[in-house]
Amino acid sequence: MKVTSWRLSPCAMKRVLFEKPAFFIMTLGSLFLSCQPSEKTLKKAAPAPPQEIGELAYFHTERILEYGPRPAASQGLAKVRAYLSTQLQERGWDVSLQRVHRPTPKGTLLFENLRARLHRPRAWEQPIEGILCAHMDSKEIEGIEFLGADDAASAVGMILALLDHLPKEALEQLELVFFDGEEGIGGEAMTFNNGLYGSKAYARMWQGKANKPKFGLLLDMIGHDQLRLTYPSDSPPELIAILSESADSTGFAQYLTKFSGAILDDHVPLNLAGIPTINMIGDFTASDWWHQKEDNLSLISKKSLSISGQIIRAFLLTRLKVESTPASSQP
Ligand SMILES: [Zn+2]
Repeated sequence: MKVTSWRLSPCAMKRVLFEKPAFFIMTLGSLFLSCQPSEKTLKKAAPAPPQEIGELAYFHTERILEYGPRPAASQGLAKVRAYLSTQLQERGWDVSLQRVHRPTPKGTLLFENLRARLHRPRAWEQPIEGILCAHMDSKEIEGIEFLGADDAASAVGMILALLDHLPKEALEQLELVFFDGEEGIGGEAMTFNNGLYGSKAYARMWQGKANKPKFGLLLDMIGHDQLRLTYPSDSPPELIAILSESADSTGFAQYLTKFSGAILDDHVPLNLAGIPTINMIGDFTASDWWHQKEDNLSLISKKSLSISGQIIRAFLLTRLKVESTPASSQP
């Protein structure tokens, strides 16, 4: 995959519905193409994690945000990655880093995707059915302490929460991927070239492989207190059907609508590599918080996370053909 040769066509540029620094909305058919925790925090006794899926996702989101801004190649991101690794390993997951150096507006940077598979013999050699993913990094924005609570710490927190809310028969069919470098580097707006660094490297790894994952679910901005979940209009139809059915069956259909256009996010390189992937993403368009300092814990809602979590859980159980078990059906 020669991702570096792709660029927005002039036509697609004209059809951008609204300019947002981290996303370009494009039409169908267009070629589109960190702070460290204080010593005080560290010494505090760790609070006990809650059970309910929304509360648990909120718990992990809050832990992630305690490390402060986490742009690519920052100390904050390294600490978040270490937190995720510990949480995963404590739950019986094997973790692996995919490390790539890439040129950026700030010079060559090291990007490190965190991958995880449920521990079993030859875990990394066995084919997997699907990937569940979100981006770990936060956008570097000069002059403000940008935390990216919903963009996308809440999605990362949700993936951790799901580990306690899905049966083993589902979890062992999944690879978890926490992407590095989704945001544009150097404070610049994200484009296909400056952004999606981790997902492009991950997708390239699978390109042409017969045993690549059969589907992907990408989560982004799923915990806002004014929850409006969407998916890009050009998402794989079979995944749209399952996501819609999952919103219906959980009684939360009113929270999910099709987005008016395509969205540039980490699912794009995956789809281009032949891994059909749907992006479940909160509507960031008519907002005064997206890529603003207001994207902090105060706009994250446990109730919204609970709704998102139940939809995601239903989606995964359906797609993975796993019966819901009584123990895990009460998130
Ligand atoms: Zn962003």
